[in-house]
Amino acid sequence: MWRETCKYERNRAIFEDELDAFLPGHILDFHVHVFNEGVLPEGEPYSCGGHPITKYDYEDLKEDLEACFPGRETMTVCFGMPIVGYDRTRNNAYLAQESDGRRFFALRLFDPREDTPESLQRDLDTGAFFGLKPYPNYVRKADVNDVEIVEMLPDWAMEIVNERGLIVMLHIPREARLADPVNQKQIVALCEAYPRAKIVLAHIGRAYYLKNVWGNLDRLKDIPNLFFDLAMLNHWEVIAHLFEKVPVERILYGSDIPIALAPGKSVEINDQYTYVTPVPWSLSISDDHGKLVFTSFLYEELRAIKKAVEVRGLGKDFVDALFHGSGARLLASVGKVH
Ligand SMILES: [Zn+2]
Repeated sequence: MWRETCKYERNRAIFEDELDAFLPGHILDFHVHVFNEGVLPEGEPYSCGGHPITKYDYEDLKEDLEACFPGRETMTVCFGMPIVGYDRTRNNAYLAQESDGRRFFALRLFDPREDTPESLQRDLDTGAFFGLKPYPNYVRKADVNDVEIVEMLPDWAMEIVNERGLIVMLHIPREARLADPVNQKQIVALCEAYPRAKIVLAHIGRAYYLKNVWGNLDRLKDIPNLFFDLAMLNHWEVIAHLFEKVPVERILYGSDIPIALAPGKSVEINDQYTYVTPVPWSLSISDDHGKLVFTSFLYEELRAIKKAVEVRGLGKDFVDALFHGSGARLLASVGKVH
């Protein structure tokens, strides 16, 4: 069992010693992937932090939320797995069917090459989706680092999003991530051109190390329809920097379940970052010598958030807003001007 939850005593001890007194009663996780059986091509499992899985459905999610956040009332914003070659239509349909708009909220995977205004409008007309989840790989460039935000989100799609006042969960492209000048310019332009859209920069614009975030929030921090999620951030100084710059109303707790359930940690080394995991994974350096006992990325995220809160001397109201209030307000604003 690769999922590091309180079903293991060592994780239960971390929860009780470090997290239980810190976490509020309501937790809204704004960044969760769900994919049902049949979405992946036959015989090609997804490597979840180095652990092959063929699905992660709502039954798995309910069980894991319970086992990660004992005693908490949990809600999640979910979207499919944005990988070219996966059955996007099947994945979106499953999310639409299972989301109740009370505990589970859905975003629709958006593919600028295969979607049309008609296919997008049709799905949005069901009322099941609170917004879109585009992804750089859907642009299908030879080098994914050449992708631009405007190619992930063509004008016709953004016009639909803007008209309906929807959320966009944006995983920004390009090697320099948040520090990339093309990204910076296009994020500002996107928010200005589509003021009713609510743009969420996933993973704080993928700034997992200090040099990437430092100085790069200045142009973005005052944009009223721009939000930041904390998914997969294990670096307390990056989080503390965000807390210093951006009001909590526009910061969203997010985990990146199911990847976040795997054992591992993201670490900064010499102005870069990598994941360290107990087993080999394409994105990580692995602990071949078996030197370390790991917990989940999820608990490392929570530890980093807690430390950033403590170092910055932030109070209970801040923590409540971060874990629930800000996200709930954003969801409630869908369809309206922010
Ligand atoms: Zn994700």
